[in-house]
Amino acid sequence: MDNKAEETGTRSLNFIEQIIEEELADGKNNGQVVTRFPPEPNGYLHIGHATSICLNFGLAARYHGRCHLRFDDTNPSKEEQEYIDSILADVQWLGFHWDGEVRYASDYFQQLYDWAEQMILDGKAYVDDQPAEVISAQRMSPTEPGVESPYRERPPAENLALFRRMKEGEFAAGTRVLRARIDMASPNMLLRDPIMYRIMHVPHYRTGNQWCIYPMYDYTHGQSDYLEGITHSVCTLEFEVHRPLYNWFLDQLVCTEYRPRQIEFARRNLSYTVMSKRMLLELVREGLVDGWDDPRMPTISGLRRAGYTPESIRLFAEKVGVARREIVVDMSLLEFCAREHLNKVAPRVMAVLDPVRVVIENYPEDRSEWVEVENNPEDASAGTRQLLFTRELYIEREDFMEDAPKKFFRMAIGKEVRLKGAYIVKCERVEKDEQGHVETIYCTMDEETRSGSGNERKVKGTLHWVSVKDAIEAEVRLYDRLFKDEDPAGHKDTDFKQFLNENSLRVARRCKVEPGLASARPGDRFQFQRLGYFCADKSSAPGALVFNRTVGLKDTWTKQISK
Ligand code: ATP
Ligand code: MG
Repeated sequence: MDNKAEETGTRSLNFIEQIIEEELADGKNNGQVVTRFPPEPNGYLHIGHATSICLNFGLAARYHGRCHLRFDDTNPSKEEQEYIDSILADVQWLGFHWDGEVRYASDYFQQLYDWAEQMILDGKAYVDDQPAEVISAQRMSPTEPGVESPYRERPPAENLALFRRMKEGEFAAGTRVLRARIDMASPNMLLRDPIMYRIMHVPHYRTGNQWCIYPMYDYTHGQSDYLEGITHSVCTLEFEVHRPLYNWFLDQLVCTEYRPRQIEFARRNLSYTVMSKRMLLELVREGLVDGWDDPRMPTISGLRRAGYTPESIRLFAEKVGVARREIVVDMSLLEFCAREHLNKVAPRVMAVLDPVRVVIENYPEDRSEWVEVENNPEDASAGTRQLLFTRELYIEREDFMEDAPKKFFRMAIGKEVRLKGAYIVKCERVEKDEQGHVETIYCTMDEETRSGSGNERKVKGTLHWVSVKDAIEAEVRLYDRLFKDEDPAGHKDTDFKQFLNENSLRVARRCKVEPGLASARPGDRFQFQRLGYFCADKSSAPGALVFNRTVGLKDTWTKQISK
């Protein structure tokens, strides 16, 4: 990746890099590093997956190796092409390129089947006719040995015949399974004759009706890594106890000269959200969010729609780092990373979310002028643009106060304030409607104070504004955190949905924005001055502009939490 060096900086090696560098020094695997990112296509990817993607692709880039993208697609009842497509799009959007073709565990179904037959013939696997509940109960607990199945000693020839009939579709789902014959007394429960194959009369999104028996994830994952020549199989901690099983399968099969090395690291979780695909799916299915890419979702597609950049997510992954200890990362770190990058790249524009009309009484109705403003003070090459200044303007309702306290440096009766890029104006009086809402604010301007004229006075407050004459309308969606609880999934007796924040979306429908935004296209990002970073929604179109707030200008989050 192009700007990897910049993102990595000069930090010290993480524990995975240390392992790899020691091995490279020893000449292991002929100095090759091959990693993979292995999602199950049963949902959209989230920010936790993003850190894993950055880690795996990052290691390959750092050590001039390769990184595969492989779908571990062993459960056709939960997998869909839609998920495959979204995952491919997300990985590419993050800026990574997988080595060669996309890979699928389902490409290895025949090889896995052949290996299973071999294991049966070697007396290492048997067909069990008992129902799943019985098999599970017989495993007992880690402190007491399990009960052996009455079918455990079935002769290989009989097992083989039954396994072939399972494959031919002769049996109903759930009536038989193929189990590895390992050790019913092992302290590692996963080694107590784990299931290798189950019958599922469910078409697979790739292999169609070719198979009605499907390999279990545990029988598939290690061999897939082996078949692909993966040198470093980096995964999350829950797989640590699976490692002996993966190795056992490889021992029974072929693998002697080379073995993928599994290295586990702790999941990264984010506060104020859920990361379980099952829960995210529930939110989508029940219509509690606007799809997987709802800007409040912790999914990569949600973050993209909200306006996050790939750079900001890669920076986040780098800052979070890798560790063996589970960590909950504060949402404010993710937002910090968004601001960090958007500040450099997002053009500044004027947008008024809750407009109130200002009339400058000493500015003639037939007068207007262009004032020049910077597109991005952080980026000299971004240039400037011209805004039309006229007698009637809109400012933010929030920026006016009738009875203002001393420290209020925005607009108040009798006080002066600068309109950004233009003049200092003084508020004289207001006009209200019948309900007592301020309808119009009357000001006078000081001709001598035009910005850039060289003789401008200083005042404490500067406000953003748009001209009534050429402002255009837009809808702006203001998001807050999706949950009110720091760890919504962490309550045993309460459904996580109880903690949804009912105020997580506020829609401002009649915002006024500067006319240049008419040509904003879905995905375009801006800084609305003084308000935050915003991104044109996928539904946004000329004449019906819709913007999502990515993040405010300051970290209000940490403050809210400590309240
Ligand atoms: P499932 O419960 O469906 O298995 P999963 O989150 O583990 O959910 P996978 O598709 O198996 O989803 O994940 C792909 C890879 O991403 C795995 O290697 C997994 O270890 C890693 N991963 C998943 N969640 C996180 C997380 N929160 N932090 C870091 N890595 C993660
Ligand atoms: Mg998983």
